[in-house]
Amino acid sequence: MRPDDFAIDNCLKCAVCNDACPVFGVHPRYPGPKHLGPELERLRREGVATDTEWLEYCLGCHRCDLACPHQVSVSEMIARAKAKHRKPLARSLRDWWFARPGLLGMLATILPALSNFALSMRPARFLMSRLMRIAPRRKFPAYTRPNLHSPAKETTSGDRMRVVFFPGCFIRFNRPELGRKVIDLLERNGFAVEVARTDCCGVPATANGDEAKARSLARANVRSLIDHVNAGMRVVTACSSCGFMLKTGFGGLLDDDKEFADAARQIGASTLDIGELLMAQSDAGKLNTTFQPTNLRLAYHAPCHQKAQGIGRPWYHLLGKIPGVAIEDIDAGCCGMSGTYGFKQEKYNVSMAIGQQLFDRISASQPQMVATECATCQMQIEHGTTFKAIHPVEVMLQAYDGRPL
Ligand code: SF4
Ligand code: SF4
Repeated sequence: MRPDDFAIDNCLKCAVCNDACPVFGVHPRYPGPKHLGPELERLRREGVATDTEWLEYCLGCHRCDLACPHQVSVSEMIARAKAKHRKPLARSLRDWWFARPGLLGMLATILPALSNFALSMRPARFLMSRLMRIAPRRKFPAYTRPNLHSPAKETTSGDRMRVVFFPGCFIRFNRPELGRKVIDLLERNGFAVEVARTDCCGVPATANGDEAKARSLARANVRSLIDHVNAGMRVVTACSSCGFMLKTGFGGLLDDDKEFADAARQIGASTLDIGELLMAQSDAGKLNTTFQPTNLRLAYHAPCHQKAQGIGRPWYHLLGKIPGVAIEDIDAGCCGMSGTYGFKQEKYNVSMAIGQQLFDRISASQPQMVATECATCQMQIEHGTTFKAIHPVEVMLQAYDGRPL
């Protein structure tokens, strides 16, 4: 998106966006989206120096955009200003790594056991907190050798609808077995699946103010996806943030290059969250409903980037179709993790304060486990409560086989 597309003149200073902002709700000094977005943007355009540390406290949750009655691109203005914000050296170094989960994953999975051991050691975590300002109380997800591949050709033939799966960094480097479950679930519902050879979606780069990196990732992903889309395949995601990034044509980062921008928009229009795809199958009477009866009390949390896709809560409805599943939509706002945000030492307390309402409501619900599509929401829920959090795909797949989770 170009700055002249931010619809800044639509802003009527109503402050509805402030009311929707999770950070504004818990941090008494956070100026809020109205100020950091349209108010400062007017000054930025006049060349007035307005750089402020508060830009760094934006979660990039897009709740302000959803709330704005006048379609002002509030979070986009903040993200672009954040990319120009100057940070101290230790935080710049940390955010450089956080913007590159693909590189981090490739290095950590050369010797995953050693990486996992090192990341769990107290001295290593102490050093990371001192040198890179990483919150020592956060646990890093375990790394696993990336071994997610397209299924054998014979399963991708016939009259099945062909889709291409965009796995994202977390599935590739931390939970490839979840990727295999996604493929299994799609195949059981009549799809022929190929795994895309893609890079990080670019959300972590944008969130950490590295616009150049986000743009280069967007180009690489467009190059690798466009042939699939031109061949009529839908792109399927199982991570809310990847899905959001793809659906917005890579956040408008390529808008200055018409050829790439058109391809990015075409990819965006062809992208579906797996829950959205299965819900469409269900609406068409084509969902595989050979579920074994189960006995499971679930709480469901909708991630911010899933809400920002404007697709409702497909997984809440899909899981509710499994006989014996009792599911409660917790609907308690943002979890506060926002990808790498909650790992940052200076933001740890804000992250936990934002999540408190969700933690309290989950605890009051007393589920057996929590289902949510976002890996970092899962981490935050497990960090802030005593409940296990899993991807809805895992629940549905287990229900086909009648095995307990
Ligand atoms: S950006 Fe939208 S919600 Fe926020 S003050 Fe302006 S008009 Fe109101
Ligand atoms: S994107 Fe989220 S955290 Fe950032 S200003 Fe908007 S509502 Fe607040």
